[in-house]
Amino acid sequence: MTDNPSRDITKNTDVNAEVAGHLAEVHRRIAAAAAEVERDPTAVTLIAVGKMQPLERVEAALTAGQRVFGENRVQEAQGKWPALKQRFPDVELHLIGPLQTNKTAAAVELFDAIQTVDRPKLARELAKEMAKQGKRPACFIQINTGEESQKAGVLPAEADAFIEQCRDDFGLPVVGLMCIPPAEDEPSLHFTMLAEIAKRHALPRLSMGMSGDYEIAVQLGATHVRVGTAIFGARDDS
Ligand SMILES: *Cc1c(COP(=O)(O)O)cnc(C)c1O
Repeated sequence: MTDNPSRDITKNTDVNAEVAGHLAEVHRRIAAAAAEVERDPTAVTLIAVGKMQPLERVEAALTAGQRVFGENRVQEAQGKWPALKQRFPDVELHLIGPLQTNKTAAAVELFDAIQTVDRPKLARELAKEMAKQGKRPACFIQINTGEESQKAGVLPAEADAFIEQCRDDFGLPVVGLMCIPPAEDEPSLHFTMLAEIAKRHALPRLSMGMSGDYEIAVQLGATHVRVGTAIFGARDDS
């Protein structure tokens, strides 16, 4: 990540301008969506999802002042963020993808928030690792609002018991809930369900909304939106 003198400066300038422009546009839309429902736009945190994006695009977002980022693979984040965090110590990193229990230690070490807590085995492992490292990343419980068999997250019917277990039995710092609605569904139904479950447990944070639906999410109470392609462009994940 040291400066490469042969780097194409013209191209970098273009990328910087493009990403900065997209970021400004997303912020503008968040503010407009919030204004429509009389929410304070500063209550919404934009998480830039840099997974599978070229490093220069992530650096462009950092240069533009973006500081909150999401990654969905521990290993990919480990390859990218330790060096970037040295250059930008105020970065806040969220894990938004499934976490295997054997990656718990690495996740607790690297991430400031873990949004995908979804099973007792993982919750227990996280609690153990947090005690060991003396570090307590904020936890979101992922709810599988669409009850999709292939998707991570606790089922809505089991959410209440699991949230209580995470807080009371494992002592995790649970701050909120996260969901990824089924692609073919009306997202608002899922966002509303997530908000209702959070309200029952007085959980202040809601991570919901992606490039295609973050404005709806903001109108339904999202405190964190996770936006990738609308900031960085299409991913290299074909
Ligand atoms: C990739 C990803 C996003 C961002 O998706 P875009 O549609 O590119 O905005 C948000 N949340 C999760 C959990 C993701 O995996």
